[in-house]
Amino acid sequence: PPASAADGAAVKAADRAHVFHSWSAQGLIDPLPVAGAEGSYFWDYDGNRYLDFSSQLVNTNIGHQHPKVVAAIQEQAAKLCTIAPGFAVDVRSEAARLIAERTPGDLDKIFFTNGGAEAVENAVRMARLHTGRAKVLSTYRSYHGATAAAINLTGDPRRWPSDTASAGVVHFWGPFLYRSPFHAENEQQECERALAHLEETLAFEGPQSIAAIILETVPGTAGIMVPPPGYLAGVREICDRYGIVFILDEVMAGFGRTGEWFAADHFGVTPDLLTFAKGVNSGYVPLGGVAISAEIAATFDKRPYPGGLTYSGHPLACASAVATINAMAEERIVENAAEIGAKVIGPALREIAERHPSVGEVRGLGVFWALDLVRNKETREPLVPYNASGAANAPMAEFAAACKRGGLWPFVNMNRTHVVPACTVTEAEAKEGLAALDEALTVADAHTDA
Ligand code: PLP
Repeated sequence: PPASAADGAAVKAADRAHVFHSWSAQGLIDPLPVAGAEGSYFWDYDGNRYLDFSSQLVNTNIGHQHPKVVAAIQEQAAKLCTIAPGFAVDVRSEAARLIAERTPGDLDKIFFTNGGAEAVENAVRMARLHTGRAKVLSTYRSYHGATAAAINLTGDPRRWPSDTASAGVVHFWGPFLYRSPFHAENEQQECERALAHLEETLAFEGPQSIAAIILETVPGTAGIMVPPPGYLAGVREICDRYGIVFILDEVMAGFGRTGEWFAADHFGVTPDLLTFAKGVNSGYVPLGGVAISAEIAATFDKRPYPGGLTYSGHPLACASAVATINAMAEERIVENAAEIGAKVIGPALREIAERHPSVGEVRGLGVFWALDLVRNKETREPLVPYNASGAANAPMAEFAAACKRGGLWPFVNMNRTHVVPACTVTEAEAKEGLAALDEALTVADAHTDA
């Protein structure tokens, strides 16, 4: 029988009885009961279907319920559901090969984790052991996960309640021309000044004490700031000069999101360690990992690597990664992300920005776009203050509600909305979502000075 509103109410009641939710005041949340999903859409029990412009948490790159991935999980479940990480298994080796073939340069060894935060955790451990140094640098505008080291490295306010001064983390400013921390007027100035600022941070911290610099290749949750030409190459050169491990966090930007397999491919830069998760198998089964350079891998040739997880390289997760990567290649899904971004989403968002007083800037690439919403285009005052909540956040909450009324599930963070559909999104779906976004932005416009 078709799902009914009563079923939805029962699902919600059962959730509220025992499920403790992430990042939430448990008494104040109202989770939407979801009945199903397919491709770019999911739906509730009340007959409402949503076009998913958030790809859940920016992870369903291949869309919901891709038949090849579902079949691969079913086949692997029938064959071998689980096995400890110490054994050699066909499907794990194949996932590692497919990933290593795509990661840049000599990042040819893969350590598997259950998700992004654990990938960051292990990358940092590898860097500290490889260099014998303790400190790690990351940017203020970043998110790296919610486990101990990862949350300390995170720059956004989710770090504050979990901050531990002893974690050996130092934050600095990355490039972001629209809200330049360096008062730069163009990308070249922003790049030069951001690199000079990093050099100065290193000088005052003591470069010999720094194990690693970790950056999101294109920062995601913090605002999709595509770095200016030369910035990542400059960081690579600084790391080489001081013997610092360069970690690129591609948990969100990797596996097609930017229209390349990895965002690093846009910049011709090879890090020493690259973290991935999310798009590697679109989250059908939890999976993440670290791709490791030959030099760092060699550190652990004769010396044991002191880290592991019961489910490292879990067969169901690896089978779904193999099927996902093969389907993405066969169906030109990465190319689709690039084309839809360049031909449909980018031009439409720029046109939307011209018509809406609330849209201060549009930036992005592939299926990875941000709209920076403002009260005033001249002053660039954000539509809501940094980390606003409650009444101060009302303009963004009203905007998100308007999107949902229009059948669009938006990604919203602080004063931004991100347009991050599946990499499989069709031109017709993208246009449908952009039209709903256009309409919802009139709600944001009402909160501007215009
Ligand atoms: N790194 C980046 C860049 C992310 O965007 C995220 C999650 O959003 C993480 C790490 C953490 O990944 P996970 O939530 O799978 O632990």
